[in-house]
Amino acid sequence: MMKTTGCCEAGSKAVENEDYEVVRIEKAKGNCNLCEEYAERQQNKPVAVMSCDGACLRGEISRQAANILCHTLAPEKTVRICLGGAFTKNTGQRGLVRDTTRLLALEGCPVNCSSRMMSGVIEGLSPEIVRTDRLCDFNQKLFGVDEMPQEEIQVLARTVAQKIAATL
Ligand code: SF4
Repeated sequence: MMKTTGCCEAGSKAVENEDYEVVRIEKAKGNCNLCEEYAERQQNKPVAVMSCDGACLRGEISRQAANILCHTLAPEKTVRICLGGAFTKNTGQRGLVRDTTRLLALEGCPVNCSSRMMSGVIEGLSPEIVRTDRLCDFNQKLFGVDEMPQEEIQVLARTVAQKIAATL
């Protein structure tokens, strides 16, 4: 039996206990055929790659590293997951995450958002967590994506992507 803390306000869509936050997600009313066709085309790739797609520097390095890995360094082996699509609706992108042989979760910080999000909608999921902020050197005091030139972010992301590609 879940022990709730009584923290919910009336009308809130989240219920919390010590270990879990239960979120009610409105089903998508719209659909993206391009995304579904992409998922179908990519379903035989052996490695699915999801990432923190966040707005901070660490999230941006992670996001760009995932893109470089999947679209440049190892496009034949990897499929880039749309985290928002996979998390919010049970269609093609979620199927790629559920059915893949190997699932990488690129995480920019200890929040581990991508792996926790997808574990919340796919029972028993156990992605390999890759902490991208530990695969490159940068000033740890920086937070914002606007605190580093784009070119430097791209170099860091490529470094991370190359290290991950070497493990495939
Ligand atoms: S989850 Fe972490 S890495 Fe991702 S955007 Fe938020 S603070 Fe940045």
